[in-house]
Amino acid sequence: MSIVIKRLYVKPGPAKFGPCCNCGSEENVWTVTMIARRGSEPGWGCTGCGLEGAGALAALCDACAFDEPLKVWVGPAMYGERKPISELSADEFNHKPDCPYRDSTMLGRFGPFPVLTDRSKGLPS
Ligand SMILES: [Zn+2]
Ligand SMILES: [Zn+2]
Repeated sequence: MSIVIKRLYVKPGPAKFGPCCNCGSEENVWTVTMIARRGSEPGWGCTGCGLEGAGALAALCDACAFDEPLKVWVGPAMYGERKPISELSADEFNHKPDCPYRDSTMLGRFGPFPVLTDRSKGLPS
């Protein structure tokens, strides 16, 4: 089962995200995936359920956008430090079931962004 909560396509992005967390490419890295695990700060958080901003995030290039991320970023994404997901705690880090922001497509104060659903639908044009 996937530990990806959501994939947001952030092109044109509010920031550069450095290398893809799967293949290491620095080209067309436009997908930010929210992961249901605790990562490094700053990470994703939610004021709706009081989650501090420590959720793991991964950036993926267009070729890897629908794949399961292998690594997450550590610290500011653009500096390129990455860590294997297998090294994170297996405890779930996720919204509460009744969270009003569960379906939010914002990334902090940026967005809304298109959500990638499945490979057959492709990337937003
Ligand atoms: Zn890639
Ligand atoms: Zn929430």
